[in-house]
Amino acid sequence: MQSNAIEVSDHPAEECGIFGVYGVSGAAGLIHRGLFSLQHRGQEGCGIVVSDGEHVRSHKGQGLVSEVFADPSVLPSDWNRGIGHVRYSTTGSTRIHNVQPLVVECVDGIWSLAHNGNLTNADKLRRMYQDAGAIFQTSTDSEVLVHILADPMYRRRPQRVARALAELHGAFSFLIMTKDCVMAARDPHGFRPLSIGRVGDGYVFASETCAMAQTGATYLRDVEPGELVTIDETGLHSSMFADPPEHKAHCVFEMVYFARPDSMVFGRNVHAVRMLYGACLAKEHPVEADIVIAVPDSGNSAALGYSRTSGIPFDFGFIRNHYIGRTFIMPQVEKRAASVDMKLAVLPEVVRGKRVVVVDDSIVRGTTIRHRVAWLRSAGAVEVHVRISCPPVAHPCFYGIDFPTREELIAGGQSVEEIREFIGADTLGYLSEEGLLSPFENAPDYCKACFSGVYPLDVEGQGDKSRHESLSPELPFQ
Ligand code: SF4
Repeated sequence: MQSNAIEVSDHPAEECGIFGVYGVSGAAGLIHRGLFSLQHRGQEGCGIVVSDGEHVRSHKGQGLVSEVFADPSVLPSDWNRGIGHVRYSTTGSTRIHNVQPLVVECVDGIWSLAHNGNLTNADKLRRMYQDAGAIFQTSTDSEVLVHILADPMYRRRPQRVARALAELHGAFSFLIMTKDCVMAARDPHGFRPLSIGRVGDGYVFASETCAMAQTGATYLRDVEPGELVTIDETGLHSSMFADPPEHKAHCVFEMVYFARPDSMVFGRNVHAVRMLYGACLAKEHPVEADIVIAVPDSGNSAALGYSRTSGIPFDFGFIRNHYIGRTFIMPQVEKRAASVDMKLAVLPEVVRGKRVVVVDDSIVRGTTIRHRVAWLRSAGAVEVHVRISCPPVAHPCFYGIDFPTREELIAGGQSVEEIREFIGADTLGYLSEEGLLSPFENAPDYCKACFSGVYPLDVEGQGDKSRHESLSPELPFQ
């Protein structure tokens, strides 16, 4: 029996997806397909800007790619370069003017940019430019880069874009288009993914490689942390705009939840990593049970890993309605509340009379998993053992992921036993921090601040600094 309860989604919210093209006729169509593949990274709004080297056209709006681009002829079909963006508002409001790519007319032409991440010094830079008389068009952190690029101090100097990027702190993967080129850059810590691919004689950039497979592109390599890649009519050029820190800080939550299982992220296949998480969970938190089920879709791979390692058969205890979007990405609480209730149904025939292990990727507030445990019991499960394929999320993220405050995070103030009691499970087991990093040879290059509270980069006044511990110095202005 399914509950009629209305609740807010219990997952963190991401973030954005970006896709760019240079040197391929029909860039608009390619970006359109790329954004479809990245839709899971943001459902609030989307946009595409294309150019033929002389003119620029853009179209953007609030809603899904299929809604905003219901008429495919809205952009020229044969222009050969462009960038696109799907948005979730981590900073700035949900207003239409915050939908990217941003397009601005500078003294030397039109610049477009698309951003994935969160700039931790954006407020400071914004105040500085506003004090000097600048007028901002949006409330996004991303717009500060436009103002730095337009600043005569940078505009008149060589390596203008590299110098501008070096002023930014925090998490960023940027695509930037001018009339001559498309550029891609990643922050020196490499928080967010960004990859380069080839299509014919041209190039594409994508937040995740799943977008390459579905646009006919071949994965070439990742944009390196601290690297600025420029593609123009002479080919691909690479330069570093900042010295690499001692350790990178790839977001491990991309592996746990955000990225699509068919993507290669930070050089690893996401499905394979999640399978390893499930296997590790089975070793760390074994239990006698009859079936393993997943909370689909993000729990699928880990549940399979748990099943194979434990020897407990996998089955489908929940069925997902695929015509409901990923609820966590909808920014308005009401939308999330209304759709989460529609998202899953329990299969009583599968769970009735069974001792059930249910594997989910994370617990944020605890409300959703609590309802799901109750549904399983209502459907006849005799025992419900919850296994979570990451450690307790106890700290907020300042690098582009929209977690609730520490007070709202259930693990921010409650022990695992208290959480187990709250969600009504017979047992509750979280993956350890060691288990979380065990798939990676370069474990120190991963950020896990939302679990540990140890932040790899100063967050510059965003929240309670007293709980932050900086592991590496801020990057110098260059
Ligand atoms: S704090 Fe968590 S969600 Fe944010 S970048 Fe680090 S690992 Fe990712």
